[in-house]
Amino acid sequence: MMGNNQPIYILKEGTTREKGRGAQSNNIMAARAVADAVRSTLGPRGMDKMLVDSMGDVVITNDGVTILKEIDIEHPAAKMVVEVAKTQDQEVGDGTTSAVVIAGELLHKAEDLVGDLHPTIITSGYRMAAEKAIEILNAMATEVSMKDDKLLRIIANTSITGKAAALNRDLLTDVAVKAVKAVAETNEAGKVTVDRDDIQVVKKTGGSVDNTTLVQGIIVDKERVHSGMPLSVKNAKIALLNVALEIKKPEVDAKITISDPSRLQNFLDQEESYLRGLVDQVVKSGANVVFCQKGIDDLAQHFLAKKGIYAVRRVKKSDMEKLEKATGATIVNNLDELTKEDLGKAGSVEERTFGSDQFTFVTECKNPKAVSILLRGGTEHVVDEIERVLEDALRVVGVALEDGKVVAGGGAPEIEVALQLRKYAASVGGRQQLAIEAFAGAVEIIPRTLAENAGLDAINMLVDLRSAHEKGRKTHGLNVFDGKVVDMVKEGVIEPLRVKTQALKSATEVAQMILRIDDVIAAKAAPPAPPGGGAGGMSGMGGMGGMPGMM
Ligand code: ADP
Ligand code: MG
Repeated sequence: MMGNNQPIYILKEGTTREKGRGAQSNNIMAARAVADAVRSTLGPRGMDKMLVDSMGDVVITNDGVTILKEIDIEHPAAKMVVEVAKTQDQEVGDGTTSAVVIAGELLHKAEDLVGDLHPTIITSGYRMAAEKAIEILNAMATEVSMKDDKLLRIIANTSITGKAAALNRDLLTDVAVKAVKAVAETNEAGKVTVDRDDIQVVKKTGGSVDNTTLVQGIIVDKERVHSGMPLSVKNAKIALLNVALEIKKPEVDAKITISDPSRLQNFLDQEESYLRGLVDQVVKSGANVVFCQKGIDDLAQHFLAKKGIYAVRRVKKSDMEKLEKATGATIVNNLDELTKEDLGKAGSVEERTFGSDQFTFVTECKNPKAVSILLRGGTEHVVDEIERVLEDALRVVGVALEDGKVVAGGGAPEIEVALQLRKYAASVGGRQQLAIEAFAGAVEIIPRTLAENAGLDAINMLVDLRSAHEKGRKTHGLNVFDGKVVDMVKEGVIEPLRVKTQALKSATEVAQMILRIDDVIAAKAAPPAPPGGGAGGMSGMGGMGGMPGMM
């Protein structure tokens, strides 16, 4: 045993290593398993998933990225595919399932090729194909702008179709389009930007989804500080204060000794007149509503109430910033500087009660640059899923406006890309041709899955789709409800171009990355922390690797 043939260990005991085809096919299998996990949710006739975590909490969703975030995935290659969904979510908001399904299929097709082609040929073919595909998509895209209300609604509608929220599609579409248009900003060059943070979504369980409303202003999760204040103020003139309406506390410990009772009264009077002075400054500015980021002293509350001013204290900084955008006010850091010009305007400021919670509604703002959506729904699960669907709708409308480009959906772009890529492959020739053809076949997974999930014959549908596209009908896709190949533009199924290009980009990147791996070296998983502290106590054991009798 201990002779010249002693093996040389360069890895810590417990490290596992897998090389070559075995490593590759393991990674591909894991990545495909992730894609399979979400495939059945794709499209308007996809089904939802119910996920139960270790604490018994339930999430019901149709959203690809949510499903993958909720389930605990361990395999490193599988995790890379989950990242594709997350990137898609960040960049576009919608199309997360599609991106993951395409990534899985790119790997599936590559698996068939690895016997004949070196992985680097496959990856370079995939890269060429992806670049070409994006060109093809760009050439197919048509324009959309702020004026095209109808088209924007169609885009929102497409992202909502087939989700739990579809019953309230018209309402949600309306809310999403109006909200995004309100906060969209166009610069001199005509470039539109939509900051999603300018749309506040407030969830409140109760009522029904029908009660969901768009508020031309901001909802602050706070009540007025004093019951003597008015419940509502019309024609509100709003001061946003980042100063406390309180007596300043000394920085160091200080003690005041008062020997004469009359001096005590004098002292209290001074405090009172100081606070009265602060409130007078607010009154002088003409404000009838105050949002204060800091505290408001009881006495100051009383004075404000007497003047009929509605005041809220300890408002979050983020809410203050939204109030600034919605009402046109300026946040003031020093009361001496508060003037009429700093005040914002709102048609109404009002306290409303939902169940046991009070909110302050700042509504009827003129041209608010920040708006709110009050989401209602019968149960928590409903409200949560509606929020996810609404999020997708808000993002697709925003992305469509930012880029100004849209394409038809329902598998139309994927079939067109596949058709043109096959022609391109023939022109490239050589070994890469096979990889480009494989890529073309892989993107067809979208119409194929749309058909399968609708219980249609996928092969027949693909044949019909291809023949329509060969006749030049670039926007023909699958009507999943009656199994006919029709013009998706007429059908009202339209998506932002970025949903498609981003999905292809990230799916290709992850497929390339996984295909290039031929060696997986994994450290032994760290043992779970022993109960009751002593963190990492066992990890030293790994160092005893060479000792006999350890097995
Ligand atoms: P993703 O997470 O990828 O957005 P979805 O479940 O939202 O997954 O499905 C999106 C796919 O469904 C897209 O390919 C889109 O074009 C397609 N789709 C949406 N509405 C329709 C429709 N009415 N008919 C056919 N396909 C549709
Ligand atoms: Mg979608």
